[in-house]
Amino acid sequence: MLAFVRPDLAQLVAYTPHPGGDSDGVSSPPADRLDTNENPYDLPPELKQKLTWTVQQEIESNRYPEGGHRALKAAIAQYVNESAALAGGQITADQISVGNGSDELIRSVLIATCVAGAGSILVARPTFSMYGILAQTLGVPVVEVERSPLTFEVNLADAQAAMAQGLQQNVPVRAVFMVHPNSPTGNPLTEAELDWLRSLPEQVLVVIDEAYFEFSQRSVVKELGDRSNWVILRTFSKAFRLAAHRVGYAITSPQFTAVLEKVRLPYNLPAMTQAAAQLALAHRQELLAIVPSLIEERSLLLQALASDPALQVSPSAANFLFVRLQNSVAQGWNLSPEAALDQLFGQLKTQGTLVRKINGGLRITIGSPAENQRTIARLREILLREA
Ligand SMILES: *Cc1c(COP(=O)(O)O)cnc(C)c1O
Repeated sequence: MLAFVRPDLAQLVAYTPHPGGDSDGVSSPPADRLDTNENPYDLPPELKQKLTWTVQQEIESNRYPEGGHRALKAAIAQYVNESAALAGGQITADQISVGNGSDELIRSVLIATCVAGAGSILVARPTFSMYGILAQTLGVPVVEVERSPLTFEVNLADAQAAMAQGLQQNVPVRAVFMVHPNSPTGNPLTEAELDWLRSLPEQVLVVIDEAYFEFSQRSVVKELGDRSNWVILRTFSKAFRLAAHRVGYAITSPQFTAVLEKVRLPYNLPAMTQAAAQLALAHRQELLAIVPSLIEERSLLLQALASDPALQVSPSAANFLFVRLQNSVAQGWNLSPEAALDQLFGQLKTQGTLVRKINGGLRITIGSPAENQRTIARLREILLREA
């Protein structure tokens, strides 16, 4: 370790970016990339052409991009209101902050609430790994509580106890991070979990990550007006098909929005990214029209996999499924459960289906119908062959 680097960074394991797993990033990735929950469909060619036209005709490469993101924020506010059926524009542009992916907003939230010893964050495992990773890079302690291994509901008694303990030890929990629906498990927040979040004191920020909102159609946006300590995070990387362009947004009170704006980098969103997000919003009906068919594909995949006695599949409100191997499979293969999962993951990858191995299971993105059929066929073939 370099002598001038913070010692706590030595322990930090960096996020492994896509193309995932142990691929070397040089050889071409497997054909079916079902490991990062992207939309399987690229932008339609006409929209790509429009974007190219914008880059050629409108964007001055020698000029800084619009640093206040005004047009984009207004368009996002309109979409948020429309999609929540909020009459008369309840959410306004001064309640929107945009980031270079919602990952940037997670970091801004951490900077605004926890750094410099101000507090810790609470997460319920298994969940999106980025909260913990970004917290560690900023020296922010992470308090972890567990979920039920069956329903993946948060152990609320433990969560409450962790909050109390933080206060006692003078490292108060300043932010609670929840994904709605959770990744990698796909379950939306229950009414009991939401009630617990509603019960948290004003000194605690509640972060509700709605990265999969377009698939779940569940949102807490209607509650924002009553809750000054809540922030919703969303992204254009999933349903909106813009993962390559890196754009996410936060919806919160005007006061907290101003703070998020204060801590971000000045020109955090490249001009082309802003143009891409505005284009996607202007054509949202066309782009999001594909969502119902992905949801239909999700239920077909769920049915097919759930009918296999070797697999334990959880229902999902997002665009992925979390699949675990029954213990009997590992026994039959004479392997430890972890090694059996490795085996399944590796063989799927060899056959051309890349999924995410995470938290003792496989997270499988819903792909195109052809990709999903191959997922089913390959899983069946491997499980039969190995039996
Ligand atoms: C994909 C995802 C994000 C989005 O990340 P971007 O940085 O916007 O690409 C955020 N939160 C969760 C839970 C996700 O799954």
